[in-house]
Amino acid sequence: MIEEFKQKKDITESDIVFDCPNCSKSLAMDRRGAGSTIDCPGCSEPVRVPTPPDPVPDTYKDLTEYGDMEDLQQSLLSSREKVDALTAQIAELSKKQEDFEAQRDKNSATISKLRSEFGSIQDALDNIYKVLQE
Ligand SMILES: [Zn+2]
Repeated sequence: MIEEFKQKKDITESDIVFDCPNCSKSLAMDRRGAGSTIDCPGCSEPVRVPTPPDPVPDTYKDLTEYGDMEDLQQSLLSSREKVDALTAQIAELSKKQEDFEAQRDKNSATISKLRSEFGSIQDALDNIYKVLQE
C-alpha cells in the first residue's frame, strides 16, 4: 500500500500527476497507488488518487497479441535465446575487432615494406624485359 505522495524530484513518466481538488496543489503518485485515498500534503484533506485513463501499459497490450500463455512463454524463450546468441556474437565480433586493430598497425608497417620490395622487383623485371628486348 502506497501512502505517500511523491516528491517532485522523484516523479517518473509512469506516475499519476494530478491536482488536489481542494487546494489545487500539484500531486504525484506512483501508478500502483491509483484509487487509494491519501491526505493532501497541502490542505490535509483526504484526496482520492485518480485512476489513470490508460492503466494498461502498451507493452502489455502488445504481449496479449501473442495469444495464450504457452505461446507467450515460448516466444519469450526463443527471443531470450536469440538475444543470448546475438550477445555472444557481438562479444566475439568486438574481440575480433580488437585483434584486428592490434594487427592493423603491425600490418601497415609490413604492407609498406612489401610495397617497396614489390617496387624493387618490378624495377628488376622491367630491366630484364628491356634487356631481352634489345
Ligand atoms: Zn489539497
